[in-house]
Amino acid sequence: MARTPIVAIIGRPNVGKSTLFNRLVGSRMAITASESGTTRDAVIGEVSWGKYHLTLTDTAGFDSPGDEIASQALDQLKATANDADVVIVVVDATTEPTNQDKAAAKLALKTKKPVLLAINKSDIKGASASFERLGISQQVRVSAIHGRGSGDLLDLVCSHIAALAPSDQPPLLKLALLGRPNVGKSSILNALCGRSA
Ligand code: GDP
Ligand code: MG
Repeated sequence: MARTPIVAIIGRPNVGKSTLFNRLVGSRMAITASESGTTRDAVIGEVSWGKYHLTLTDTAGFDSPGDEIASQALDQLKATANDADVVIVVVDATTEPTNQDKAAAKLALKTKKPVLLAINKSDIKGASASFERLGISQQVRVSAIHGRGSGDLLDLVCSHIAALAPSDQPPLLKLALLGRPNVGKSSILNALCGRSA
């Protein structure tokens, strides 16, 4: 793969997507807030983990498509998930799966990409909701606020990236030399390739 793999974070509002994004990217690029619907536009950041590099996308909350903004956000969310190589669905460990969680999981699984479930807020006492029914077998309990589980999550993400292509392979350059005969196209090509003419 010539480009950096894309990993999308999706889930209903307030489960901690932006907090997890910030934790993984290591900066405060995404807007985080306790009101739902704060992150309307996708925010991207770069993550390096061992020899792997990936582009992480934070998305708007998975609102029900009642108003127009929400339905635009839903379209954007679907596009982001479809463009991704790996999708992380974030849920809140303090709440049993809601219909919005199920919809987020369904949307992610529909992409046919590797899907991981990040069960966030596991630092909260008694946060032990079960998410088996979402149909996502690869699950990691995390605390975006404290960082717990974020390394395990990145290990899992990278195991899927490793299956896509070796990441230390430099991007391929595709180059065409155009010109009339005898102007020196082959000599330039040989020089660029380090070959003697
Ligand atoms: P988003 O709407 O899914 O992007 O959620 P945010 O990242 O904006 O977080 C929503 C709320 O959950 C904020 O008040 C966060 O501080 C809180 N939150 C996020 N992650 C955690 C976590 O791991 N533990 C706890 N206790 N709270 C969290
Ligand atoms: Mg957010």
